[in-house]
Amino acid sequence: MFQFAPRAIVGLIVLLALASCAQAPTPQDAPTVPETIAAADTPAPIPPSNDPVLDALVDAALVDGYAYEKLGELCDTVGHRLTGSPGMKRAIAWSEASMLAAGFDTVWTEPVVVPHWTRGKEFARCVEPVEFDLDMLSMGLSDGTDGKTIEAEIMAVRDWDEFEARADEAEGKIVLFNPPWEGYGKTVQYRVHGASTVAKHGAVACLIRSVTGVSLGAPHTGMMRYADDAPRIPMAALTVEDAGRLYRMCERGLKPRVQLSMEAANHDSTTSYNVIGDIRGREKPEEIVLISGHLDSWDVGTCAQDDGAGVVLALAAARQLLQQDLRPRRTVRVVHYTCEEMGGSGGQAYLDAHRHELDQHVMALESDSGSYAPRGFSVDADSLIIADLDRRAAPLARIAPEHWRVWPGWSGVDIGYIVREGVPGVGHRVDGTHYFDVHHSRADTFEKVDPTDLARNVAAIAGLTFLVAETPADLGPAPVASLPGGSPSVGGH
Ligand SMILES: [Zn+2]
Repeated sequence: MFQFAPRAIVGLIVLLALASCAQAPTPQDAPTVPETIAAADTPAPIPPSNDPVLDALVDAALVDGYAYEKLGELCDTVGHRLTGSPGMKRAIAWSEASMLAAGFDTVWTEPVVVPHWTRGKEFARCVEPVEFDLDMLSMGLSDGTDGKTIEAEIMAVRDWDEFEARADEAEGKIVLFNPPWEGYGKTVQYRVHGASTVAKHGAVACLIRSVTGVSLGAPHTGMMRYADDAPRIPMAALTVEDAGRLYRMCERGLKPRVQLSMEAANHDSTTSYNVIGDIRGREKPEEIVLISGHLDSWDVGTCAQDDGAGVVLALAAARQLLQQDLRPRRTVRVVHYTCEEMGGSGGQAYLDAHRHELDQHVMALESDSGSYAPRGFSVDADSLIIADLDRRAAPLARIAPEHWRVWPGWSGVDIGYIVREGVPGVGHRVDGTHYFDVHHSRADTFEKVDPTDLARNVAAIAGLTFLVAETPADLGPAPVASLPGGSPSVGGH
């Protein structure tokens, strides 16, 4: 997908980069925020494409410490950002200030009606046959225990099938689902639908094994839903370890009893905001290339991977264009969505507010898979556009040697609303091996983000944004052979 250049050129680039860069700390023990990312930590150098402007943009992004500095600032000084919370208000102000400081032409907010849920104090404790505390987190949007402490026997099941087979035992019990991790999409169904499923059979509360494949003793929260035709019972997640212990006690024929107290409460809906910033296009300002992440988060940890990373990646990618004195033909728009975690009303509100200009949205990209080693992009669009983006993005493959792909696939929750209306959608993709280890847990903190990976992801998003915003041709229909030199960004910078 790309040509190799002489090693001498590569060596020169590396030497120049090394000469100008401080040594970056490792993510685990980073004492300070680095000014730059050490070139020694960047991936094995692969020669530039035949587009010097694109290459300069990518090279600059690979050694820029801005995104890492901003992510540390967001995590440490704003903190977690539950929709409707004071933290989210701080985050909205941080986002606006950051876009203005980065030099965006126009920055504004758009109101979004959002659910308002608070966690309050909560605890769970096994009281028979032995006493021990259970580390737990209420599910988002769960009701609480109404000022009381529930105490009931645990009915532990492995999965839906086992519950259905034993459903007549659920009356008056706290049902615990202890399913194996079978990937997020399948396993998360217990979190979303578990409470109403067991409530229909008389259960008084629902617990689940946290939705993760790896645990070091942290429970994982996330949104649940109540069905209209079932009683609303409280629901919480236990750690993998505690869920396993209770499950094994039941297997031994013991009848563990658990106390559960949750102040979780649903309040009247409130108003939050999407934050939007434009870098105005120099030739076709009405045409928009949208890049995004979601500013809201859960209320544990500091939510660096979900989705502090996506927020700073979109911000830093757009800023990198300005840093390189690039003002592409089309408008580059950064959207920091609200309320992704609580149902997606930020994405719906963007659709409602911009329906009149959807046909001017050339592409929408979302980064909401954390910042690990880059893997490329998944594209939700017709096959001509997917093929076209694959070809255009080929010079970016040097950011992720041996792993780069552009493939048909899902794009993102927030942009999904406009993608379903026909806007080509792009999902920023990274190595997903460890994302769900920390996702929605207290372990999702700044230390989990690698500064080199973050810079590589900025380079990938900045590169694709530039290629799409700058190309004279529309996406998709143009045959490959008609574009000059195989490089869509030739001319007119
Ligand atoms: Zn997310």
